[in-house]
Amino acid sequence: MIEEDLEVAIKVVVVGNGAVGKSSMIRRYCKGVYTQDYKKTIGVDFLEREIEVDDDNVRLMVWDTAGQEEFDSITKAYYRGAQVCVLAFSTTDKDSFDAIERWKNKVEAECGAIVMVVVQNKIDLIDESAVSAEDVEALTKRLKLHLFRTSVKENFNIDEVFLYLSRKFLSQQ
Ligand code: GDP
Repeated sequence: MIEEDLEVAIKVVVVGNGAVGKSSMIRRYCKGVYTQDYKKTIGVDFLEREIEVDDDNVRLMVWDTAGQEEFDSITKAYYRGAQVCVLAFSTTDKDSFDAIERWKNKVEAECGAIVMVVVQNKIDLIDESAVSAEDVEALTKRLKLHLFRTSVKENFNIDEVFLYLSRKFLSQQ
């Protein structure tokens, strides 16, 4: 097999409180669709997308919590083998922002210190913001995590999140 054909598979978990846009983000990224009133299918484990990152072919397996956002109801299988993580909150939901550090701790307890990023979704609703830019920056600085502001609705900055995570993961191999 020639080197270019080798593929790296990365398991991505997307965590955060309910309704911040996790399922929408995964569907947008992997399937290229967005629907306001999409109903989750319980039992679907993950969606996939293949991308080229520099000279590597990367297959991202992006896992959805399927509505099990209570901290302890997410099964071990969800976290097992996860290599990178999106910590997501919503611009319009202060509780979801306040929960970011707890989600980080939870993922670290299950997976160790894997590659993570903070995503502030629903940036299209910035006029209805429940969190200040200063607070968001202070938190991400303290946690030493990169921040992406995204809108799944407007397809803004989504590809960049997964490219960043893939690059960072590959650079650590
Ligand atoms: P989850 O519970 O975190 O998986 O959240 P969902 O993906 O089910 O999204 C919750 C709601 O937020 C749905 O009605 C989505 O259409 C909506 N939503 C998701 N992303 C965005 C966004 O970027 N902007 C806006 N305005 N709504 C969004």
